[in-house]
Amino acid sequence: MLPKFDDMLATLVSEPSVSSTTPAIDRSNLRVIEHLANWLESLGFETELMPLPDAPHKANLVATLGSGEGGLVLAGHTDTVPFDETKWLTDPFAMTEKDNKLYGLGACDMKGFFPTALEAATTFVDSKLSAPLTIVATSDEESSMAGARYLVESGKPKARYGIIGEPTGLMPVYAHKGIAFISIKLQGASGHSSNPELGCNALDSMHNVMSDLIAFRQELANEHINPAFEVQVPTMNLGCMHAGDSPNRICSHAELQIDLRLLPGMDTDDTIKRLQERLQSATAHCGTVLTVNTHYPPVPPFESNLQGDLVQTLAAHSGIAPGTVAFGTEGHFLQSLGMETVVWGPGSIDQAHQPNEYLARDQIGAAQDTLRQVIARYCTS
Ligand SMILES: [Zn+2]
Repeated sequence: MLPKFDDMLATLVSEPSVSSTTPAIDRSNLRVIEHLANWLESLGFETELMPLPDAPHKANLVATLGSGEGGLVLAGHTDTVPFDETKWLTDPFAMTEKDNKLYGLGACDMKGFFPTALEAATTFVDSKLSAPLTIVATSDEESSMAGARYLVESGKPKARYGIIGEPTGLMPVYAHKGIAFISIKLQGASGHSSNPELGCNALDSMHNVMSDLIAFRQELANEHINPAFEVQVPTMNLGCMHAGDSPNRICSHAELQIDLRLLPGMDTDDTIKRLQERLQSATAHCGTVLTVNTHYPPVPPFESNLQGDLVQTLAAHSGIAPGTVAFGTEGHFLQSLGMETVVWGPGSIDQAHQPNEYLARDQIGAAQDTLRQVIARYCTS
């Protein structure tokens, strides 16, 4: 027997599962995974826990009902972003209902998708499925996407179709940009400010780097345009910089961090390589040493066929036309496993990553109606 929806969501919300590249606040997701595994087993799913090889306190869960080729994957991430307790009006780890909204950390992004999917699945537990229904729960989506990357390395799960239940307000999302955080470091040499010959000024070199980045950004925008996006060109944000220590010392060290968002069809590795080569020549005349690093492996852009069966089926049942979004997901990784992938789920991204995050109750029933339709379409004959 499956617990009630509210009890399941309250249980998931009560288990802290913040993922962060800052080790001090990073938490395990195992408790969330264990609850899901227990509930899914009670429905007759076969479950497989997949601890991450480099981080055994983190795991994915793959739960399957039925067997055979094809079928449908319903996927979600179990982690949340960090939170600012002072800005929450309620306890972020105690689900609270007010005005038909279910408040709690991760309620919308995206612990709420799991009880939604599990309840929809109960309709099919006594049926003989013609193709498997698989529910996947990943770790670390909000930080490194290590869980989804590990699924790709392991080559599972396999299915014909995949839905990632991120909060899209039930709009089928068939494309989003990629995301890369890049750090550009320049090492010069300090010396007394009265004589520039005594050192090598990293900020002078950074001036060249920034001019060149802005020129490169314009080149990329001239080369690539996609009218399906609100911002139709790739973007590059010069986000923050740390440099030097005193006005009367030659600046020996400067670091600039940028955010690069590429359109579907653009190759992330190639673009970063191109950027690095350009900056190498922009700083070649002076003595500073350049290093370019990504903060973690970039999230590649994602694009599914707009005319694909899953996109069109979701659009028909939820009554919302397919579109694109400005946030990143695990879409590319599911797609790499061979699935026609769409991002679609209950709740609004406006509430995600915010204090007082909530899932509006009216989204849940509508999501379940559509999920039952797609499960029937792809998993029953
Ligand atoms: Zn999310």
